[in-house]
Amino acid sequence: MSDRNRIVEDPGFALYVHWPFCLSKCPYCDFNSHVRAHPVDEDRFVEAYRAELAHRAGLTRGRTVSSIFFGGGTPSLMKPSTAAAILDAAAALWPIAANAEITLEANPTSVEATRFRGFRAAGINRVSLGVQAMNDADLKALGRTHSATEAMAAVDLAASVFERYSFDLIYARPGQTAKDWRTELGAAILRARDHLSLYQLTVEPETMFERLRDRGKLVLPGDDLARDLWDVTQEVTSKAGLPAYEVSNHARPGAESRHNLIYWRYGEYAGVGPGAHGRILTPNGRRAQATERHPETWLTAVETEGHGLVEDAFLTNDEQADEFLLMGLRLAEGIEPSSFHTMAGRRLDPRRVDSLIADGMVEYTPHGRLRVSAEGFPVLDAVVADLAA
Ligand code: SF4
Repeated sequence: MSDRNRIVEDPGFALYVHWPFCLSKCPYCDFNSHVRAHPVDEDRFVEAYRAELAHRAGLTRGRTVSSIFFGGGTPSLMKPSTAAAILDAAAALWPIAANAEITLEANPTSVEATRFRGFRAAGINRVSLGVQAMNDADLKALGRTHSATEAMAAVDLAASVFERYSFDLIYARPGQTAKDWRTELGAAILRARDHLSLYQLTVEPETMFERLRDRGKLVLPGDDLARDLWDVTQEVTSKAGLPAYEVSNHARPGAESRHNLIYWRYGEYAGVGPGAHGRILTPNGRRAQATERHPETWLTAVETEGHGLVEDAFLTNDEQADEFLLMGLRLAEGIEPSSFHTMAGRRLDPRRVDSLIADGMVEYTPHGRLRVSAEGFPVLDAVVADLAA
């Protein structure tokens, strides 16, 4: 491996498994999720996941898996035996670290909660629940199919079944005030053990929410209220001992999502399943991979080719350095400037850094890391664009 492609500190190696099916499409969602009228042939999909895992194992020899993440879509709609078969296949191909984090995303409906014990027996040790809101009116407006009561029951069950759990909430919803959010977040923290993901609602292209907004039927909080909601989020979580370790993720120190840290620290990961992405380190550089998004087309491709990759290209040094910045500056810990130098073959532009420091947007830590400041985080995209330009 050339020096430029070496990771200065190895963040670990992860597997991502994408399960692309949902019971219905949420109006804000731009993930690769599909609704099917008939039951999915899970046995056929399992064979395809096995084949794709074997393909990636051939590209990542010598690695030990430190994290596996089932994302989607709604992977909690899988049978637990499907998750078990995929985990067994991974364990036959790579050594799995004894303390590996194995996460499954789940929707908090009562039906899915009944499978939690089966998922635990399959080897899942952490769940991430898509609660999204803690009152029925807002859940309905977000197109969610569970009630607030069901969601809290699922959270409580997850707390008793899994070693670790987290749940997601979406804020800056239509009509939400800072007072409402403070109350809701306080109630959420009482249910959260050590990790919460708190996402600001954004309108993504080609979603139902985009169409509603364009017709004037969806009005999101303006910039001032959105900033107030952001400030409430930071204040309430910090006081509760769950500060932001990433722009939208909060944890007690030590309880961070180790899987996502591998992405944000620009580590190596293999992605399998429809629409999965990967970053594979090879002696000739870092490969960016992506698979076919359409589930049945992916299935056929894997059955005929042994993999569903539709993109597999080496990244240039500049592309890697940009990705490293984009991911690393999401983290409260920031980045090691020398890692950028190693990847890019040049230093960060000192005039841009100095100008952002003067504006209070970024700062150096006592250990010489560069991080976005508390003032810079609400405008993170603009700060990163400025540094990367
Ligand atoms: S459940 Fe999740 S992945 Fe599925 S449509 Fe809703 S937001 Fe998207």
